[in-house]
Amino acid sequence: MSFVENEILENADTIREYLKNDKFKSEAIAYERSFRHIPHKLLDVENELLSKLSTGLGAPGSIFDKLNDADIDFGYIKDADGEEIHLTQGNYSKYMKDKNTSVRKAAFLNHGEEYKKHQHTLSMIYYTYISNKKTLSKISKFEDGLEASLFSDNVPRQLYTNLIDKTKSQTHLVKKWRTIVAKVLKLDIKTVNPWDWTQPLCEASDRNYTIEEGIEIIREALQPLGKKYIEKFDYLINARWIDFYPTDNKTSGAYSSSQWDTPAFILMNWTGKLRDVATLAHEIGHSIHSMFSNEKQTQTYHSYPIFLAEVASITNEYLLTRHLLKISTDVEEKKAILENTIGDFISTVFRQVQFAEFEMLAHDIVNKGGSLTSDVLLGISKKLNIEYYPKLENENDSHEFSGLWALFVPHFYMNFYVYKYATGLIAAYSIGEGILNDEPGAVDKYIAFLSSGCRNFPIDTLKEAGVDLQTDSPYNNAFSALSKLISEFDKIAF
Ligand SMILES: [Zn+2]
Repeated sequence: MSFVENEILENADTIREYLKNDKFKSEAIAYERSFRHIPHKLLDVENELLSKLSTGLGAPGSIFDKLNDADIDFGYIKDADGEEIHLTQGNYSKYMKDKNTSVRKAAFLNHGEEYKKHQHTLSMIYYTYISNKKTLSKISKFEDGLEASLFSDNVPRQLYTNLIDKTKSQTHLVKKWRTIVAKVLKLDIKTVNPWDWTQPLCEASDRNYTIEEGIEIIREALQPLGKKYIEKFDYLINARWIDFYPTDNKTSGAYSSSQWDTPAFILMNWTGKLRDVATLAHEIGHSIHSMFSNEKQTQTYHSYPIFLAEVASITNEYLLTRHLLKISTDVEEKKAILENTIGDFISTVFRQVQFAEFEMLAHDIVNKGGSLTSDVLLGISKKLNIEYYPKLENENDSHEFSGLWALFVPHFYMNFYVYKYATGLIAAYSIGEGILNDEPGAVDKYIAFLSSGCRNFPIDTLKEAGVDLQTDSPYNNAFSALSKLISEFDKIAF
């Protein structure tokens, strides 16, 4: 804990006196949020010791990064033209989506063999990481690493376990989607392999979108968000806050970045694909969220927390998807939109919640005094594979490498972080459904949410948007939206 934070906690009574003064009243929420940490404050001698041990305490994460980014080497595979390619962390997913089966198979096997070779080291690193978290949470008077991690966002443990239960109750949707995938790809279920599932279902569209076309489509798609939202959208475009074109030495990808006293810059690398239209809608979601919060909140409360960061961007993507499905007359294009959207949902909700449960189970074992060997970790991941991705009838027993993700997901070193991806998407779909179904007050509530910054704790801020993650309704809304998307694909694909 930093010197300043420590001083604040030590002088809470004096600060509370100051906060009674009208001039400082608006800062009270921020300080009270800090004062929650008082019962968890360390003694000076503990702080000093931990600071001297900081390199060792940070070692599991940094050793994992070095091993995973620098020493792990997946070797070479042959691409579809027979050319030798160095398989890397960066191009692995691209080759797993290759049309050529032998390319996907080689990528999968090289990748798996390399991780398997390091399974004992990777397990020991993770065990050490969790052991440290266990000790640190005890010293700080938290029950365990999970409670310590949820504390700053004031998220109840029950929300975390409820997310897991709700998601697991919907895995029939994953099964339905896998049935459709198997049918489209004409897979022989008795002999199917993991690399058969990752090929694309639809031909990549060669349709190109100009920037102007992209903007027009997004503007139409976001109309349901009302006049105030569209005004900000027009301002971003007309005042040229977006840098669209790729140029030499420009950073790759896309992002939105803002400060309290400026609108938000957007960086894009527009190539004219439908994916770019979705990315632009996403980044505009971040920017307009910042603009509303900056406008309404003081500098102390303007920035929205990570827990909420993806809600506005995914809401925009969802509105865009629904708009494109409505206007598109091309069946192939519609199929591709649905495939992407369903794939994003499954990887953001089911996959991340599977990871979230994995973290909880692994921490539980260590908390109870057990250790994490590779057998233990792979045992958990294989069990969770079957629970989250239910097998089809007669499906081939899964490959020995299918549970290896237990060893190499970098986010496991971020201590109970991944569940926020899932809650973000669920909130966004629930908001999108409310707005598209013209629920009374839905737009106003959403604008109030966008204007909230970090004034309240994230789950209370979401309530302003009409999303109470402690009730069933947002989960029901999101999963029923997914169910409809899957049914729509099913209807047009065959
Ligand atoms: Zn984003």
